[in-house]
Amino acid sequence: MAEEWTPEPWVYDTIADALGIERDRVENLVRSRVIRIRSYRGIMYASLRRELAGYPEGTVILFGRGWSRVVHGYPPIQRAVLLRVAVPRHFIDKVVVEEKLNGYNVRVVLIDDRVLAITRGGLVCPYTTARLTRLLGEKIKEALREIGADDHYLAGEVIGLENPYTRYFYPEAPKFGYFVFDIFREGKPLPPRIRDEVTEKHGIPHVPVLGIVDKDDVDSIKAILEKLNREGREGIVMKDPEYRVPPLKYTTPATNIGDLRYGMRFFMEEGRSFLFSRILREIFRAYEEGLQGPKLDSLALELGTAILKPAIETVTLVAKGEMVAEEFELEFANADELNEFVDYMSSLGIDLVILSTWEENGFLKARIRKPKDTWVEVRKILETGLTPID
Ligand code: ATP
Ligand code: MG
Repeated sequence: MAEEWTPEPWVYDTIADALGIERDRVENLVRSRVIRIRSYRGIMYASLRRELAGYPEGTVILFGRGWSRVVHGYPPIQRAVLLRVAVPRHFIDKVVVEEKLNGYNVRVVLIDDRVLAITRGGLVCPYTTARLTRLLGEKIKEALREIGADDHYLAGEVIGLENPYTRYFYPEAPKFGYFVFDIFREGKPLPPRIRDEVTEKHGIPHVPVLGIVDKDDVDSIKAILEKLNREGREGIVMKDPEYRVPPLKYTTPATNIGDLRYGMRFFMEEGRSFLFSRILREIFRAYEEGLQGPKLDSLALELGTAILKPAIETVTLVAKGEMVAEEFELEFANADELNEFVDYMSSLGIDLVILSTWEENGFLKARIRKPKDTWVEVRKILETGLTPID
């Protein structure tokens, strides 16, 4: 079970050694919850909830008596909004244009020959670990053992509909897929070419490479993006072939507007945090592409509709007495695995409601509901006619 407890003294020493900081400092950081200590099926770990001692947020220290293993947090990727300016300035010569898949970031590490799936914030997710182990466990073990499981780990995107975090449909992985986007050695990513060699050799999927172009050839990058946009796909991540400079990301208007349309259903939550960033992206895209007249008008209408319509629909539903929540389906090996996951989410303060369970192809499927604050907030506004936001 994943839970927090008061650690014994050796635990502080181990974490302090691993991070190269003072033991007292570790104790204070645990108390102030910057460092969170938990366990997953007998493996203890500490996660950093912000950057610390040169380690990014989401860094994990897995440990036991007499050993520790640091897995660096996945670094944030800088976003470009003006490709014609950013790409030639940022890159050195060539640019590897990869697809940006829309799911959630999972680092995979081998500990004691067991596959562990670590989410962005630095937690071992029991659901992702179990599903990934079933899907690719043996292949991942072979690949990591070959390149060195002690200092290498994978970073990739889980996509598809059957997960508790981000649900976006992909024909190539409708339910649950994993696509490697980087292989790390200690905290350093290997060149994309090596990632492709290693993963292909072991039959592990990697993100599609859509082209390798000259940094001044922004037209080719735009052509790639137009195609992705027509297909409703998220966007691209551009990388230096040797990883001499950090990557840049860029998302399609289909995604920027689609995020708003989705997020505004829960406008007091996702909607609020999505709004400004997505509008900013569209401002600079419209500027760079010189959108004017009817084209600009139609963007304005699309954007306005994406913001208003889902939110008004939510208000209408709540007014009718209906509940607004996120619902999704997950697959488990058995009831123990389901309970482990529900306990894990509850330890994070998220109380899931299991709506139904059934058997399918030897697995236990569950339909699950995640309550949303928007529902509560909208009820209050409907009742009082007053808004908490000026
Ligand atoms: P950030 O990573 O900048 O903190 P974020 O968590 O909001 O931002 P995104 O805007 O989705 O995430 O962009 C970065 C994320 O994109 C990565 O963390 C990774 O999960 C995902 N991703 C998808 N495809 C790729 C790829 N080809 N290369 C690198 N990352 C990718
Ligand atoms: Mg993402």
